[in-house]
Amino acid sequence: MIRKTLNLKTLSLLMIALLLSCSKDKIADQPKHIQEIAKRAKGEFITLESGATVEKRGENYFIEGDILLTPSQFELIKTNNSFEAVAKEDLDQPYQNASPASSGRLFRTNPNTKSVGVHPNENRMWAMVRYTVNSNVSAGARLAISAAIQHIESTTNIRFYNATGQPTYDSQWGFYYPYIEFFHGTSTNPSAWNAEGNWSTVGRWDAVKNPATQGRGDAGQWLSLQQDESMGPFLPPFSVPMGVVAHEIMHAIGLYHEHTRPDRDNTITVHPDRCRLTGDDYKANFDKRTGNYFMFGSSVDLNSIMMYGMTDFAKDANFPVITLNAGGTYPVNRTALSDLDRSYANYFYLPYIARSDVYRELAPTVYKSDNTVMTAQERSSLQAYLNNGNPNPPNCCRLTNNHTNL
Ligand SMILES: [Zn+2]
Repeated sequence: MIRKTLNLKTLSLLMIALLLSCSKDKIADQPKHIQEIAKRAKGEFITLESGATVEKRGENYFIEGDILLTPSQFELIKTNNSFEAVAKEDLDQPYQNASPASSGRLFRTNPNTKSVGVHPNENRMWAMVRYTVNSNVSAGARLAISAAIQHIESTTNIRFYNATGQPTYDSQWGFYYPYIEFFHGTSTNPSAWNAEGNWSTVGRWDAVKNPATQGRGDAGQWLSLQQDESMGPFLPPFSVPMGVVAHEIMHAIGLYHEHTRPDRDNTITVHPDRCRLTGDDYKANFDKRTGNYFMFGSSVDLNSIMMYGMTDFAKDANFPVITLNAGGTYPVNRTALSDLDRSYANYFYLPYIARSDVYRELAPTVYKSDNTVMTAQERSSLQAYLNNGNPNPPNCCRLTNNHTNL
């Protein structure tokens, strides 16, 4: 009950602290090369009593290579072979009909969205994505973070709030702000959350519920970027590809890997014998998701920024691990969100402008879940709906929110 109170208060106050990027700039030149998820430190694979397999790296547990399990998720998967807890009332909630929640999220129907992500509920999605950048992030990685944020903001309803240097605790209302902390994970870092590579949790998590075991002491969550060294080819000025940063951010938004969709066999075939990964390592990267996911549509989005390439982890590039049932090939996309990545985001998020009051002000461009833009009238009506009938925001209270020069 305390948790629920905290969540509601947290979310409503998140709205207060919300933000909007004033910048809709196009990203300049994004890296054109195809960059697979960076080489990562290889850990030890452990089969749990539930039968699930996880990868242990240091004190951390991962699935699917780059998805960090929170301690509570690890306990669930250990005992139930289930990635996360979903309350029954959440499962029963007809999301299509949900009214605006305290977070300001508004669910709309979209039969075309095909991405697979977390089961959406108040505890797992964001109103705005509050973030900070750790001092150990390189200049080149900061440029890539900035580019990724601007790319996501310019193509979806997701909005970020740069809280670097700002408090992580609201002393007036007594709660911790949920936020993402971009940092450079290293195996030599003495902190508990120290795994190398590019990784993130999936969705927002309620770290404040159990701060001691989250290794933080506040409601933040880590998002690690492997920068500079060991990154392989990349184009300056980025030291980590923009698309890799976007991939990890979209995990934090709520997306899983597209090729782990339960219905993937309708579209693709995965060939274990062609994969250089074996046993648990293979399972961790290619096993299908079997529970507690949320998915639309009926086929794999090959262009998703969350989709592995055909030859990723192949023994021989002439014999792809993933093939198309219909024949042909597809390129791995790490340069921009796909239309369906965007649909997922536009379905679950609304583009709020950061304000210090409680008015829910929408950005000028509001995407529908089919990625078309709302008309001015539609936007005004929605804004009124979100604000007890008042379509006109008070002429005050916008917060400064800058994603450049991180
Ligand atoms: Zn990933």
